[in-house]
Amino acid sequence: MGLMEYVQFTPRQATRPVNETKTKKKIHKKWADIDRYIADRLIPPDRALDSVLELSQTAGLRDHSVSPNQGKLLMLLAQTVGARAILEIGALGGYSTIWLARALAPGGRLITLEANPAHAKIACANVARAGLADRVDLRLGKALDALPTLTAEGPFDFVFIDADRVNIDKYFRWAVKLSRRGSLIVVDNVVRYGTAIKDEDSTSQSLDRFYRLAAAEPKVSMTALQTVGVKGHDGFAMALVTANP
Ligand code: SAH
Ligand code: MG
Repeated sequence: MGLMEYVQFTPRQATRPVNETKTKKKIHKKWADIDRYIADRLIPPDRALDSVLELSQTAGLRDHSVSPNQGKLLMLLAQTVGARAILEIGALGGYSTIWLARALAPGGRLITLEANPAHAKIACANVARAGLADRVDLRLGKALDALPTLTAEGPFDFVFIDADRVNIDKYFRWAVKLSRRGSLIVVDNVVRYGTAIKDEDSTSQSLDRFYRLAAAEPKVSMTALQTVGVKGHDGFAMALVTANP
């Protein structure tokens, strides 16, 4: 910022924090209310999914699972591609895992990678309670260690990337490798209140690497959308694999 702009903006900035916080809270509440309005109409109460959120909260897990509206979107997308093999990176309490496993075509299976043993245990219990244990295979360990072992189990029709953002570009590279022409790759949390364009920490840098990698990858066609709702301001990317690896 040049000196003139600094001088011009100083008086306004001095009054900004208080008002901005109030306005932000109001906007956030509206986003969340609308998310709930939509969910109330389109997503009937569901014992298995509701109890995942309750149990995760009781166990003190951080509230990082997708929202109900997003979970259903994942299910619909996986159904759209008729997924028989799904790969998820980052299970937490198994909330998105359950949505995705429900999308599986008969005889299909889902592999989910989770590094945290406590999360893995809760996810397995939740998946079992949802009656999906026969279709879901949770692999405990760091995703980057597990991914190279999955070549023989692919190709996957649908991949959901939702773990640590620092490795997001590496996960995407693997997702493409483990896919086939027509597979869909969804990547969560690619906006995070604009982290992507702030260029200030390792997360923004890895997000930037991810976007560049995807743009340069001739085997995928990708877009990304910003979202607002109960999860605040974030976004997801969706890539269609257009050629076999
Ligand atoms: N997909 C879940 C939320 C996942 S939160 C849902 O929407 O319900 C991110 C998860 O990724 C956490 O459980 C975290 O333990 C896991 N994670 C973080 N780093 C990881 C890594 N290197 N390998 C595998 N899992 C990892
Ligand atoms: Mg996420």
